Order: sequence, then C-alpha cells, then structure tokens
Amino acid sequence: SSDSTTIRATLFPGDGIGPEIAESVKEIFKAADVPIEWEEHYVGDQIDPRTQSFLTWESLESVRRNGVGLKGPMATPIGKGHRSLNLTLRKELNLYANVRPCSSLPGYKTRYDDVNLITIRENTEGEYSGLEHQVVRGVVESLKIITRQASLRVAEYAFHYAKTHGRERVSAIHKANIMQKTDGLFLKCCREVAEKYPEIKYEEVIIDNCCMMLVKNPALFDVLVMPNLYGDIISDLCAGLVGGLGLTPSCNIGEGGIALAEAVHGSAPDIAGKNLANPTALLLSGVSMLHHLNLHDKADQIQNAILNTIAEGKYRTADLGGSSSTTDFTKAICSHL
Ligand code: NAD
Repeated sequence: SSDSTTIRATLFPGDGIGPEIAESVKEIFKAADVPIEWEEHYVGDQIDPRTQSFLTWESLESVRRNGVGLKGPMATPIGKGHRSLNLTLRKELNLYANVRPCSSLPGYKTRYDDVNLITIRENTEGEYSGLEHQVVRGVVESLKIITRQASLRVAEYAFHYAKTHGRERVSAIHKANIMQKTDGLFLKCCREVAEKYPEIKYEEVIIDNCCMMLVKNPALFDVLVMPNLYGDIISDLCAGLVGGLGLTPSCNIGEGGIALAEAVHGSAPDIAGKNLANPTALLLSGVSMLHHLNLHDKADQIQNAILNTIAEGKYRTADLGGSSSTTDFTKAICSHL
C-alpha cells in the first residue's frame, strides 16, 4: 500500500502477556494487508514528570495525534503510591466512555447462545475519582463524584450509539433508591437525553435486580449505560456470559473522537512469557478499531478468521480448553484469512 493510504495508529503492547498478544495482532493484521502503521510505545521504567506517571508524554501525544490506538494490559502495582497507568490514560486523554460489546461467539458454547448486549461505562468519575483520605485514625472517606457534565456526555454517547447501531433500547443501571443525590443526578441526565431520542426505548433498572436478570436471561438487555463502578463490575459479569476474559474486547472513547481499543483482561502474570495467552480479546479490540476507521471489510475478514478458527476447534488456547500455544493459534488464524 502506498504511504498516502497508510493509517498511523498507536500501539501499547503493555505488560505481562501484552507483548505476546500484541505480536499476534501485528502478524494477523499484516497477513490481512491492513493498511496500518503502528507507532509502538512501551511504558517507561521511570516517572515522566510531564505526565507524573510511567506513561511517557510522547506516547500520549502519539494517541492524540493519531486519534486511534490499541492497548495491551498494563499492570498496576498495588499500594506503591503511583497513579494507576489506566487511570492516567483515562484522565489525560479524557476517555470518558468504555464500550464493551458482549455477544455469544458462534462456535464457542456457553450457557447462553443469544447474548447480544453492549455495556457503556462512565470512565472518569464516580468512586474512581481517586479522592480518598483518612478522617481520623480508624475512619477513612472516599468521595464518589457524579457531575452533570460527565453524566450527560456518557448518556449522549449511549443513545447515539444505540441509534447508529440499530439498537432499540437503553437501560440506565443505578442504585438511586440509596444513592439519591449521586445516582439520582446520573438518572436525571439519562432521562434528559432520552427525551431527545424518542425512537429509542428507555428504562431504568436497579443494579442488584440487573445482576439477577443478566445471569437469568441476558437476552433481556440491549444497551446498558451506567456510572463507573457499576460498569466495572457489570461489564466483567457480561464478559463471563460469553466465555470469559480471553475473548472480550472493549473500546475507550475520548473527547474529540479519540478511540483507544483494549482487551478487558489484565496482564495475566501467571501465564506471561509462556506462549499460552489467548490473543482473541486484543484481536477483537483491534477489529473494533478497524470499524472505527471505517475499514469494515478488513474488520469482518479478521473477525471471521478468528471465529472460524475457534469454531473449528483444532487450535484453541488453554483458557478455551485447548492445548495450542499463542503462536500456533495465531498461525491458524492467518491460514483462515
Ligand atoms: P488478569 O485479567 O490479568 O488475570 C485473571 C486470570 O485470567 C488469570 O488466571 C489469567 O491467566 C487469565 N487470563 C487473563 N487474560 C487472559 C488471556 N488473554 N488468555 C488466557 N488467560 C487469560 O487479572 P489480574 O490477575 O487481577 O490482574 C493482573 C494485573 O493486570 C494487575 O496488575 C492489574 O492491575 C492489571 N490489570 C490491567 C488491566 C488493564 O490494563 N486494562 C485490567 C485488569 C487488570
């Protein structure tokens, strides 16, 4: 492909299994002739004073400049006093919505065959504002922040998504009966936006009831929108419905149309460096990035090759009950292209 048609995209291979599964994505994209040139950025081993984290300023600039990127998992050291890399990325790039499609993969049997839902998680505030302190010895306080601006922004994204993706219904998930002020404001914003989309059905579901309904009959839901913490939990629950962390992609949407796709799972230190990781989640995240770039043919071609490889059952990684290595599974996908 000539330079004029090549699209530049940022790639964070990340930690743990990240570099192994990123390699798989690069190989498969190359085999499919995807016109993308990756700008690879690794997390630094020193704090960059310009970002106050291990993420370099250059890597953030790369995402801002390209507008699209793919991110592997990044390990967060617990209790070391640094800002989490994922939180830094969300804050610095204003990645306000995390979109996670969960649909049953044909060829990989789970309890349900008809899961087809989208969770949209507010990604910047709520309990994740990082405002925690000790009031006196033995008493700590954590501030849950909900703003009108961030709630309207994510609700608007959810309804716009529903409308442009042929979806019929948006469910706002909440606990406003207890958190009257915070979740109450979130719901009020969702209602305001719902009024602008009369063609989309709108409903409100209390989070505990939502969990019960999801495990009992996930087909009851279409698009779900919710504050940060509920989104963190519910989106993992939904990932479990379709086969687990090795399979589920996501995409972070930022202000100004930035899209940073990422697998849902972490760095899997227990299997890192052993050629055992399932690259499907990162691959499908890459597929969602291709859709974002309007490269729908390439996206479908790669997605079909992945699904056919899994359905055929000859090459599967250990998390799906198989015994293939990451590299053999990758080769099998390439041969299905
Ligand atoms: P994890 O997702 O890394 O691992 C949970 C389990 O799932 C492990 O048994 C692992 O082997 C397995 N697993 C995960 N991905 C897999 C894959 N692609 N193929 C096969 N098996 C897979 O969760 P964790 O152990 O709680 O977290 C490890 C580290 O990752 C922590 O430092 C955490 O902060 C970080 N993390 C990062 C992200 C992110 O970057 N978005 C998300 C979650 C956790």
